[in-house]
Amino acid sequence: MPQSRELDAIVVGAGLSGLVAAAELIDAGKRVAIVEQEPEASLGGQAWWSFGGLFLIDSPEQRRISIKDSLELARQDWFGTAGFDRAEDEWPRRWAEAYLQFAAGEKREWLRERGVGFFPVVGWAERGGYTALGHGNSVPRFHITWGTGPAVIEPFVAALRRGIDEGLATLHVRHRVDELVTENGTVVGVRGVTLAPDDAARGAASNRTVVGDFELRAPATIVTSGGIGGNHDLVRAQWPARMGAAPQNLLSGVPAHVDGRMLGIAENAGARLINGDRMWHYVEGIQNWDPVWPKHGIRILPGPSSVWLDATGHRLPAPLFPGFDTLGTLEHIVSTGYDHSWFVLTQSIIEKEFALSGSEQNPDLTGKSMRELLKQRLSTGATGPVEAFKKHGADFVVADTLDELLDGMQNLTPRHCDRRRSRAPRDRSSGSRTHQ
Ligand SMILES: Cc1cc2nc3c(=O)[nH]c(=O)nc-3n(C[C@H](O)[C@H](O)[C@H](O)COP(=O)(O)OP(=O)(O)OC[C@H]3O[C@@H](n4cnc5c(N)ncnc54)[C@H](O)[C@@H]3O)c2cc1C
Repeated sequence: MPQSRELDAIVVGAGLSGLVAAAELIDAGKRVAIVEQEPEASLGGQAWWSFGGLFLIDSPEQRRISIKDSLELARQDWFGTAGFDRAEDEWPRRWAEAYLQFAAGEKREWLRERGVGFFPVVGWAERGGYTALGHGNSVPRFHITWGTGPAVIEPFVAALRRGIDEGLATLHVRHRVDELVTENGTVVGVRGVTLAPDDAARGAASNRTVVGDFELRAPATIVTSGGIGGNHDLVRAQWPARMGAAPQNLLSGVPAHVDGRMLGIAENAGARLINGDRMWHYVEGIQNWDPVWPKHGIRILPGPSSVWLDATGHRLPAPLFPGFDTLGTLEHIVSTGYDHSWFVLTQSIIEKEFALSGSEQNPDLTGKSMRELLKQRLSTGATGPVEAFKKHGADFVVADTLDELLDGMQNLTPRHCDRRRSRAPRDRSSGSRTHQ
């Protein structure tokens, strides 16, 4: 076990970013300490829960289904979406360029060498639907990892374990960093507290009982502490003015440990934080009927066929179709004065087009079981997890007639939904069983 004085680097956070950083350091023969506030059960952070949709450009998976992609097209899409227009965007621009080169170049092979494979169907996230130079992906680029999130973290957890066996790495769980130690304007290490052991299940909130303190020093400290999504106070404080007032009800797509604390800690040590208001939210979020973390939200990965109505029964304007422009849609929904909207769809649409994001909502892909995949996706009815939401989900109304559906919608949102307005478009289209 390396002593603190022998370390080459400290990594704060054992999510995917921290694991990848540690794995690269170990590969280079460096000595690294990885410091993580959560118990070992949560190793891998958010990525374990993720769907494992990875951005690749001009891949064999795309070419196989005749998608024509290129680095130039992806660059146009990226810059059109980012809308870089601030002086502080210099590094984000450079980072975008480097990542585009990676995604069009060595990324797929680099992952495959580490055992990460892909499901042959490429998804189309954030289509945009505006002009060629505007927001969105012009073509499908969402490559689904075979085995979803757990398969994305697997090689890097294995690399860390190897590093530990070889005496190059140490993993310090239940160690919470509270300070970046600086000397002469340079970060020389981390200081923090040790937290009481906790047998919380993966993703569940753990205790914050302090039982000791620690300090580690190294020539390099890498902060990979995740975002702010589990801390709604911070989300509200940084809410962008352009998106109106923050909705009263927010769900968390991420565990409570995504608390954003390290941002303030890094700032205290002299880091210059930029673009705090450029946050990302999904509007198609529903309350998990079987939550793991507080206010656990699950995102619907929708196809385009559902009718999407705002709280008052107006159809959302083009191009705000499901899966096209989540921030544009959020801005629109917030402008209605309500913080909810309605997806109206038939049983056949839910069976064909309705998926839920997250590894645990896709046990067939996560379990890498082709047999289970074919059973879940080809047999009658929606997948098991989607059917469970229909049955138990607090945000779902399942009805056989339009009047029953409208009654259910009104019961859920008593502030109102204009029945006549909601009804007209449905009467002109087909379908009997209808769901939110
Ligand atoms: C349900 C879900 C689905 C997703 N689907 C996709 C997808 O399909 N495609 C995609 O690209 N992305 C997806 N994402 C997003 C992606 O998973 C995350 O962006 C990514 O995993 C973040 O990794 P990270 O290492 O930066 O942060 P995290 O995973 O949050 O890890 C940060 C770690 O730092 C620790 N930490 C924080 N502060 C301290 C401190 N002071 N001291 C010690 N430790 C600290 C935290 O406990 C945590 O373990 C999804 C996320 C979720 C939750």
